[in-house]
Amino acid sequence: MLKGKTALVTGSTSGIGLGIARALAAQGANIVLNGFGDTEGPKVEIAALGVKVAYHGADMSKPAEIEAMMTFAAAQFGQVDILVNNAGIQHVAKIENFPVERWDAVLAINLSSAFHATRLALPAMQAANGGKGWGRIINVASVHGLVGSAEKSAYVAAKHGIVGLTKVTALENATTGVTCNAICPGWVLTPLVQKQVDAKAAAGGISNEQATQQLLGEKEPSMQFTTPEELGALAVFFCSPAGNNVRGVAWNMDGGWAAQ
Ligand code: NAD
Repeated sequence: MLKGKTALVTGSTSGIGLGIARALAAQGANIVLNGFGDTEGPKVEIAALGVKVAYHGADMSKPAEIEAMMTFAAAQFGQVDILVNNAGIQHVAKIENFPVERWDAVLAINLSSAFHATRLALPAMQAANGGKGWGRIINVASVHGLVGSAEKSAYVAAKHGIVGLTKVTALENATTGVTCNAICPGWVLTPLVQKQVDAKAAAGGISNEQATQQLLGEKEPSMQFTTPEELGALAVFFCSPAGNNVRGVAWNMDGGWAAQ
């Protein structure tokens, strides 16, 4: 379905970003990976799906590096048709103790990076398809884009912000073939959440399994993690013809978290 298209997925060396990159590659899209840590493993895995793959190590907190990544992607594959703004970090502390440097980093990586990548991707998407436009921008927000949780001020502010950015991007392109939507996962067992499980186990003197059950029990009625594969399938839907007129939604996959 996506053969010949190019998808750039930020923060795709791990977790949800890698899951979405896999799902888009399985539909035939060429992939530009980004993120830290092991880059060879994800590159080999995506290439094995029979698509072209490239990697750029832009630090998403740095606008000049984001610009270099967008230029690199266009040079590699012609243009970016699908942009998935996924890179994100977490920091947990009460507002009065929240390190200012962590606030700035969370806002830069979880929110401003999406603005920069979007503003740089839009002109080519708007010009595609003989000037009628074709493009898909998918912002990985969070259920924390819809509701708050204590001790996550920067994360909740950034995620509410990216839901707002999603709506404005969708509206400004509503008469074109460029859509923008947000995905709002509940708990997904990735390294980002494993750190929170480990902290809970250490603080409570409990096992990993008990900490996991507590974490789910506090927020997620289904008592199940959402998986990167499920989120990848939703991203594929947004890219499909059936998603042509889905514009500006913040779609939660959260086991009932925000329904309470
Ligand atoms: P993860 O830690 O597994 O992956 C984060 C990715 O972002 C990695 O590839 C990492 O290298 C990259 N990254 C971090 N800082 C970066 C930077 N400065 N520049 C470039 N890349 C950077 O986390 P994840 O759980 O897969 O999170 C992915 C997204 O999903 C985040 O936006 C997160 O807020 C969101 N999310 C996660 C959950 C969850 O439960 N895990 C729930 C809702 C939303």
